[in-house]
Amino acid sequence: MAENTLESIVSWAKRRGFIMPGSEIYGGLGGIYDLGPYGVALKNNIKSLWWKTFVENRDDVVGMESAILMNHQVWQASGHETGFIDELVECKKCHRRFKADDIGDAKCQRGGDHKLTPPKAFNTMFKVKDTYLRPETAQGMFTDFKQILETSRQKLPFGIAQMGKCFRNEINTKDYLFRVREFEIAEIEYFVKPGEDDKFFEDWLKQWEDFVLSLGIKKENLKLYQHPKEGLSHYSKGTTDLQYNFPFGFKELAGVANRTDFDLKSHQEASGKDLNYFDQETNEKYLPFVIEPTLGVERLMLAVICDAFQQVDSRTETTEAVTEKEIVLHFNSNLAPVKVAVFPLVKKLSEDAKKIYDDLKSCWGAIEFDESGSIGRRYRRQDEIGTPFCVTFDFDSLDDKKVTVRNRDTMKQERIEISELKNYLFEKLNSWMKV
Ligand code: ATP
Repeated sequence: MAENTLESIVSWAKRRGFIMPGSEIYGGLGGIYDLGPYGVALKNNIKSLWWKTFVENRDDVVGMESAILMNHQVWQASGHETGFIDELVECKKCHRRFKADDIGDAKCQRGGDHKLTPPKAFNTMFKVKDTYLRPETAQGMFTDFKQILETSRQKLPFGIAQMGKCFRNEINTKDYLFRVREFEIAEIEYFVKPGEDDKFFEDWLKQWEDFVLSLGIKKENLKLYQHPKEGLSHYSKGTTDLQYNFPFGFKELAGVANRTDFDLKSHQEASGKDLNYFDQETNEKYLPFVIEPTLGVERLMLAVICDAFQQVDSRTETTEAVTEKEIVLHFNSNLAPVKVAVFPLVKKLSEDAKKIYDDLKSCWGAIEFDESGSIGRRYRRQDEIGTPFCVTFDFDSLDDKKVTVRNRDTMKQERIEISELKNYLFEKLNSWMKV
């Protein structure tokens, strides 16, 4: 994927109300983005598919929501206070800061006389009064493990799933939504009997990849990366990342880690509370091992956008003079922020078209009505936000009780009986989905 695709995506996302810099009227805030109406719809669609796939559709995973602020001791016991560290180097002259990993032996880009300091440890948790903003959602699932086990009456193997905001004081924010300071993580802590961890690790890696593929992301844009032993996080016995081919190269999208019993053991020791699991089959008491599939929701959203984004010279006929390239977002129907757009051919037909719009809206919610500009212009507007179908009510519709349905990807147009329209769309929208 070309680097300049990112520039086109950034400008499209701002222009069409998907993603914009946070607090922009005050000059923004580094590494912080806001989502507009279509952006939040896309993100919510991704999140609800994740929740449906991993919580609602399964019997062995339960959901939870822990607080963003946790007792300070949580971060001491988890090892984050001492271990959630990036190596920072700073230019002695212009005081720009870099992540040592990113810069290697290179110099500050501002010139040869700009010397860098030796690397120093930098904790990327945001300190707030008495504690930290959480940098991951995992710890709430460990501290509440025993209560959730008891209240949900689960037996091993079972998982706890959580999605929510996390904060990291990244040394450098870059690559758009890829590295930001406030973002959401969706992750599962899957508790297993020690000895069965390797098998479940492989299982989860496959399920994680399948989920990403089910969103419509192309397989050739995904690749696995196994972390070398010396590069593992302080809690991990093994970690494999699922990388996506972003416009700036293959980079981590999601990961699966074998956290062993590190977290439960640390919290048991620090809190003095027994976090052991009693295995009724074998009459044994032990601390479960934990397999953690994790993903960043914003990174996944960026991957979904990059994969769906297409720029073409011209494909839609319009009477208006349009010189810029056409943009089409080929979102899966279940991710598309708007499912169907309804157009009256001319304003005179608005009342009739509105009836169709109201009917579809009561069914899907995410339906738009557009009566301004040529039909070609309206198609282009919807293509730009990835709407799978456009329905046009024209003068013939008054007599034959049919409307024209136009498919975003094939651009094929079909005349469909108004009485059959909901069934038609229901079937088409469903068959488009890969979940
Ligand atoms: P990286 O190596 O890129 O810093 P990480 O290995 O520290 O990421 P994890 O701690 O495994 O990341 O976090 C879980 C997931 O959260 C990652 O797979 C990624 O998708 C997402 N993530 C992590 N840091 C950020 C960030 N600064 N901005 C957006 N998403 C992030």
